[in-house]
Amino acid sequence: SNSLVWFRRDLRAFDHAALYQALTSSNRVHCVFVYDSDILDPLPRDDRRVRFIHASIASLDAELRRLGACLIVRQGRPLEVVPALAAELDVDAVLVCADYEPEAVERDAQMEERLRADGRQFLKFKDQVIFEQHEVLTLAKGPFSVFTPYKNAWLKRLAAMPETLAAWPVDPYAHNFAPPPSGTPALPSLEEIGFAPGEPPLPAGMEGAEMLFEDFVNRIADYGRARDFPAEDSTSRLSVHLRFGTTSIRHLVRTARQMAENGAGGAGASVWLSELIWRDFYSMILARNPHVVERSFKPAFDALAWESGDEAEELFAAWCEGRTGYPLVDAAMAQLNQTGFMHNRLRMVTASFLTKDLGVDWRRGERYFALKLNDYELASNNGGWQWAASTGCDAQPWFRIFNPVSQSTRFDAHGEFIREWVPALKLLSAKEIHAPWLVAEEVLAEKGVVLGQDYPLPVVEHDAARKRTLERFAVVKKAA
Ligand code: FAD
Repeated sequence: SNSLVWFRRDLRAFDHAALYQALTSSNRVHCVFVYDSDILDPLPRDDRRVRFIHASIASLDAELRRLGACLIVRQGRPLEVVPALAAELDVDAVLVCADYEPEAVERDAQMEERLRADGRQFLKFKDQVIFEQHEVLTLAKGPFSVFTPYKNAWLKRLAAMPETLAAWPVDPYAHNFAPPPSGTPALPSLEEIGFAPGEPPLPAGMEGAEMLFEDFVNRIADYGRARDFPAEDSTSRLSVHLRFGTTSIRHLVRTARQMAENGAGGAGASVWLSELIWRDFYSMILARNPHVVERSFKPAFDALAWESGDEAEELFAAWCEGRTGYPLVDAAMAQLNQTGFMHNRLRMVTASFLTKDLGVDWRRGERYFALKLNDYELASNNGGWQWAASTGCDAQPWFRIFNPVSQSTRFDAHGEFIREWVPALKLLSAKEIHAPWLVAEEVLAEKGVVLGQDYPLPVVEHDAARKRTLERFAVVKKAA
């Protein structure tokens, strides 16, 4: 029989659930990737994520060719392109790895209907997460909304079902791939899909992921300590690879778990494993509560009145552009704007600053991150924002408000990260750099800084902002 594997956010040819299922149930397996015009058209022409996808597609095609197959690449609307290709190749089934974002779920439901009308099957397989939304439940068989008990239940379920981590092998069944048709067109260049040429923001494709992971494994033992300090750059940077599936979550969890169990990864491996469990947790929260895309996880928090009007617009623009006058916040925003990456600690700091110091609606920050982050993923981004804004499940309590200066002295004590991203402040000492408005004008002038000219004065005063936030959240006091 003939089948078609439609690659989406699973751009690899090893340990791949849909590919394995296709190759073990059919003897002519075709592979396709569609540059989705609905997703790509609104993006800036130099979008870093498109470069990453483009480079990863080349790597996937090369690997499929090694296996005797190839990747068919099309452009357009998947709902039109995929059924047409399925008809052209006369396949019995289209197989995919499941995607849990609400829009993808809706699109897949329509796809299933269209294919069924043509007499073809549409089959989805778990691949992106270790456990889907219904697999880790409370004793009363309900969903979790607090992370730690979820994590304990997740670990328990994995211990009971170690086969969950088994790889889905591809190589042994490679003879079931359909050979590349003669005269297969070359893969489209970035220009051919309407984007400017350029390098991906980090090593792409399966080899890129493996290189980052091997490098990280050597440092994992120290992760528990070092992960909070942005200047140390000690995290794995695998989020983009997890987003686009150039690595396998089972492979990462298997390695982290082994290292945690045999002691090779020190305490770091189990802390890192917890982070991967957060990813499953937020995926489950989104799948079970699609209302979080637009509204607070906890309905009572929809009553919050965020700042609006010209002043709020001005504050939001200052935050986006990294000119709030709070050096750590501005350094973090510069890193995001220039590279598409932001360290986790700084995502918490900047999100807290926008919602609790500037009083701006978390949804606006969430959308800005969505535009800029290379690893943007609805579930984790929404979860992270609602955590910081205190509107989410298991969120930061609303009365706990990060002080942007103490976060700075604590997590960038020497000011190294700030100096890298806010060069105007590079001559300031470790003592001065966290709150330049407290430094005498003459001292600043000697270091080439006139506040309001070379670097902004703070756009808000933290203590006053804190009081306003406590008042704003008083409306939810009872519900919280
Ligand atoms: P590592 O520290 O090496 O962690 C390994 C992996 O664990 C990450 O790649 C990621 O897949 C997962 N992970 C780590 N922390 C979290 C977390 N808090 N929640 C869910 N998964 C986690 N992560 C995204 O992948 N996409 C986003 O759009 C995103 N937006 C965020 C927005 C805010 C406001 C906050 C506070 C966090 C957000 N995160 C997001 C989570 C986290 O910041 C990133 O996953 C992490 O910084 C990526 O760097 P890394 O791969 O080096 O992480």
